[in-house]
Amino acid sequence: MSRRGGTGLRATRKPVVVVAGEDSTDRKCLRILLEAFCPSMAGRIVEINDAVRLRQAGDAALAARVDSLANKVRARAAREDAEVACVFVHEDFDACDSDHFPIVRDRVQRALDQRFGNAHYTLAVWEIEAWLLLFPGALHSLVSGWKVPKQLQGKDTGRLNDPKRVLKTQLGKARAYRETDAPDVIEKAVDLGAHTAPLGTNRSWDLLRGDVQTCCAQHLGSR
Ligand SMILES: [Zn+2]
Repeated sequence: MSRRGGTGLRATRKPVVVVAGEDSTDRKCLRILLEAFCPSMAGRIVEINDAVRLRQAGDAALAARVDSLANKVRARAAREDAEVACVFVHEDFDACDSDHFPIVRDRVQRALDQRFGNAHYTLAVWEIEAWLLLFPGALHSLVSGWKVPKQLQGKDTGRLNDPKRVLKTQLGKARAYRETDAPDVIEKAVDLGAHTAPLGTNRSWDLLRGDVQTCCAQHLGSR
């Protein structure tokens, strides 16, 4: 382990929250939300840069990938000279919400539970873009020409087909939505205080909020 400074004492850090996901944009979105809903996570979140693919793995592959993830989590925390408080793993469901969704989510969550003390599987339906549609004000605030059509407001955005395409084609004549806009939209929602009052519903959003609440209260504790 590395030692810092000239005192010869190990640096002491609060246990970290490790975020893993499909890509850096998704991880950035998750990080902003975790800090917004649980301010005590600020400064404690670290990321694993490798893409995680768990949802479609068969049982043996799932166990192997969760093992490999656990090794990366351990190594990442070691680099910080810190213990692991909890792990958040994001993945897109790539399909609309359905009865199949909780089955897929629970299976991966169980695999994570077997390997980690504390971990949360954040499976977004269809993908994180569906969450952005819960915040028309944030979209408009980021690009003033963007407007979520009335018929898409106040809906269950988890039921929308291909929400990325919806954002790219339905926001009006201003510039087209790009995937890298997602963290900026989330940040706007947080700045506006809209993140606590979404316009519409989305089961994966509610599950994330519940997970952050549990995490904040039970997994970070007073450490
Ligand atoms: Zn947790």
